[in-house]
Amino acid sequence: MCGIVCYIGEQQAAPILMAGLKSLEYRGYDSAGIALLDKGGPAVIKKQGKLAILDEYLQGEKLDACVGIGHTRWATHGVPSTRNAHPHYGRQRDFFVVHNGIIENHQELRAELRKEGCPFHSETDTEVVVHLLEKYYTGDFLKAVLQTVSRLRGTFALGMMSAFHPDTLIGARRDS
Ligand code: GLU
Repeated sequence: MCGIVCYIGEQQAAPILMAGLKSLEYRGYDSAGIALLDKGGPAVIKKQGKLAILDEYLQGEKLDACVGIGHTRWATHGVPSTRNAHPHYGRQRDFFVVHNGIIENHQELRAELRKEGCPFHSETDTEVVVHLLEKYYTGDFLKAVLQTVSRLRGTFALGMMSAFHPDTLIGARRDS
């Protein structure tokens, strides 16, 4: 049972994401991460282990972004590791996803995306989501999300962010 926290507003996102994730720590997790959309470009910071490890790392970073997504992971597909930790991102680092739950048809989606030349960086069921977003995106973020979600089987909660739309966060859930 992982946790998802997303923030968009006028304050610095990173401390708010971290405070939110800390309040969900009791649910248990094996790794944690955040993705931020900064003026200088996106930043993804993930660490295996306790939030304190991520927190300590962030102390040395200059993070001014006012939009971001955060996650604590309880692995279901793929070992607990920094590589498998969320957020996951697409080939061009344009889309970012955090996910709670299980994408039941991830294997067939992975095979389809692989055939289309899509590289995978993790062992998670989650990563298909971000590649589907890239595949369906033609300028309308919400439309790409709706097309993506229509391809997914299983139970899930998703937090999604795109570098093309820094003023938007989209959440979606099914039976979760
Ligand atoms: N199934 C996903 C994974 O293994 C999400 C797990 C979770 O809910 O934390 O990465």
